[in-house]
Amino acid sequence: MHKETVVIDGRVIARALLEELEIEIKNFKEQGIIPKLTVVILGDDPSAMAYVRMIEKGCKTVDMELDLLKLPLEATEEFLVAEICRLNRDDRVHGILVQMPLPSHIRENVILSTIDYRKDVDGFNPINAGRLVVGADTYLPCTPGGIMHALDYHNIELSGKNAVVIGRSNIVGKPIAMLLLERNATVTICHSRTADLKSHTKNADILVAAVGRANFVTGDMVKEGAVVIDVGINVIDGKLVGDVEYNSVAPVSAYITPVPGGVGSTTISILIQNTLKSVKRALKRMETK
Ligand code: NAD
Repeated sequence: MHKETVVIDGRVIARALLEELEIEIKNFKEQGIIPKLTVVILGDDPSAMAYVRMIEKGCKTVDMELDLLKLPLEATEEFLVAEICRLNRDDRVHGILVQMPLPSHIRENVILSTIDYRKDVDGFNPINAGRLVVGADTYLPCTPGGIMHALDYHNIELSGKNAVVIGRSNIVGKPIAMLLLERNATVTICHSRTADLKSHTKNADILVAAVGRANFVTGDMVKEGAVVIDVGINVIDGKLVGDVEYNSVAPVSAYITPVPGGVGSTTISILIQNTLKSVKRALKRMETK
């Protein structure tokens, strides 16, 4: 049993960051610069719309301009590409986010590559994903960015630690593994074909669960005193549940993120931070022209 478990409160961490971002936005506006994010969504998938509403709420909190471009589910790939190109050219738009998942007639890789990497505030354009791998300046994908921000908020030491990431998706598993590696953790990526998962997780000082299976990580899989980051969002009987079985894992962990109120809460603040980074980069480009 760990002596004192710290519950990482994503809402508190996000609020503190949003307060800083609100000041930055106010300062920009005083200089006549209006930071703006455009979110493109096709159709009205309920979980996609729930995320869009979270973005709307976050932008409202910090008083940032948000344009919602709602397109019909039947919109063609060609049409979506043309719309993104229009947004790429529009100097008033600093950030572009195309909400996933896209309908099956549209190729995700084509869309992600079409978004100008300088406005790709989700960080999923292959240029930005590649920059992340080589440790170059980029836009941190929002969920991994939120995790790193939460770890830093609590001054959690990463250098030399064993970090185990369960999940290898492009949006969570791979980028968080790269970010932990960049900070000198010894990183293991586990996935659906990993043999003897527990032998890896038991060795983790930092354990990130991004599996998408409710209560997948149980207390017996976790090292005493580990930092446990639960990325999972699963709905069970209408309730949000993480990938970590909180009741058995919290007692052995030194730090743990709850669901809800953990990782998910920090995501939007990173999206807004990325949009402001895009504004700063655009200003720098203008200065050097
Ligand atoms: P995904 O389905 O793309 O990837 C899941 C990963 O889990 C895969 O790489 C797979 O190899 C691995 N996996 C599946 N079964 C496994 C097993 N038995 N053992 C080991 N590994 C296994 O999912 P994703 O997009 O990375 O999302 C993961 C979870 O995080 C989901 O619940 C998702 O809803 C949630 N999520 C949360 C946020 C947030 O902001 N909090 C953002 C994105 C995703």
